[in-house]
Amino acid sequence: MRTLIRNLGAIASGDIGAPFADGDEILIEDGRIAAVGRALAADREVGQVIDAHRSTAIPGLIDSHAHPVFGDFTPRQRTIDFIESGLHGGVTTVMSAGEVHLPGRPKDVVGLKALAIVAAKSYQNLRPAGVKVHAGAPILELGLEEHDFAEMAVAGVGLVGEIGLGSVKTGAQAAPMVAWAKAHGMIVTFHTGGPSIAGSTAIGADEVLEARPHIVGHVNGGTTAMNDDDIERLVATDMAIEIVQCGNGRAALHAARTAEAIGGLDRVILGNDAPSGTGVIPLGILRTMAHLAALGGIAPEMAIALATGNTARVHGLDVGVIEPGRAADVCLVDAPIGSAASTALEALAIGDLPGISMVLVDGKVMLGRSRNTAPAARAAEIVGGGPPAAGH
Ligand SMILES: [Zn+2]
Repeated sequence: MRTLIRNLGAIASGDIGAPFADGDEILIEDGRIAAVGRALAADREVGQVIDAHRSTAIPGLIDSHAHPVFGDFTPRQRTIDFIESGLHGGVTTVMSAGEVHLPGRPKDVVGLKALAIVAAKSYQNLRPAGVKVHAGAPILELGLEEHDFAEMAVAGVGLVGEIGLGSVKTGAQAAPMVAWAKAHGMIVTFHTGGPSIAGSTAIGADEVLEARPHIVGHVNGGTTAMNDDDIERLVATDMAIEIVQCGNGRAALHAARTAEAIGGLDRVILGNDAPSGTGVIPLGILRTMAHLAALGGIAPEMAIALATGNTARVHGLDVGVIEPGRAADVCLVDAPIGSAASTALEALAIGDLPGISMVLVDGKVMLGRSRNTAPAARAAEIVGGGPPAAGH
């Protein structure tokens, strides 16, 4: 099955080192991007043709910090279909930062391992609304030993939920566990800033520097931010720096500007930190991109890369960049009707949220016009082809 997206006005690649791809077409074969360029279908049979009407292609967005539990229900906000609603905000991949909202979440070692393994396996078996959810992110508790990490890794657990929400809170407590998790191939996030829930404690730069996780979780707070000095000390490392929607907006700008000033924007990733007390925010990643672009001086194509290619690199995912070989997770976006901007990137630069007119996951059209964004001025549409004949 081949799909051709043609008549693109721009392709924001998601690759922060080359944020624009040259060309006006994307060719998709069997769910993967086969080529990016011009006149790609000249001598090839195409099953489906999408006319982008000069709108912009961006990679499907990756939410680096979510708190799912099971399926598409969040006990925290008693809301169903929040992941499906996020797809209407362009999010095609979701990374769990811990299934902390499970009612009665077990805190003993056997229980927390069991939860992580069930969450990992259940989302491997289920894509809510087609969204790729990577979950099974254990909250670290005192008493875990290396063989526990080995057991979880073998069972498919590839993440460690944000450290600090359990009884492991200090750098000294976390450091050996982070080393074990890394040795078994798991990607580790450390909560920073004030506590998000009663019973946990504030975590500053010293704890994170001692533990050396892969990701500095919500450097702008979830929701209470560290002081500027601590933010600067963590941005100055080689760790990934996560900025979230459900955090402090001023601290987000300070972290982004600090990263850009030292040439570290390639380590900045974006998350929602929802569902949470702040809510369920289907447009949260788009809002964070617009915030950084319009108020933080980050070029819109770079803001897109923070929410796509950067996160994919940190987590080793085959999505997030529009380039041959990657899974064909693509959003077609334009300035919203009524915006002072005339393209999606110009919209981000002035703080408007782009309108989404189509989202593809693995090359399959998951939705047309988003019900959550404002309508795109120019909307992509399927203009030709269809499923290829049987046996083709
Ligand atoms: Zn947190």
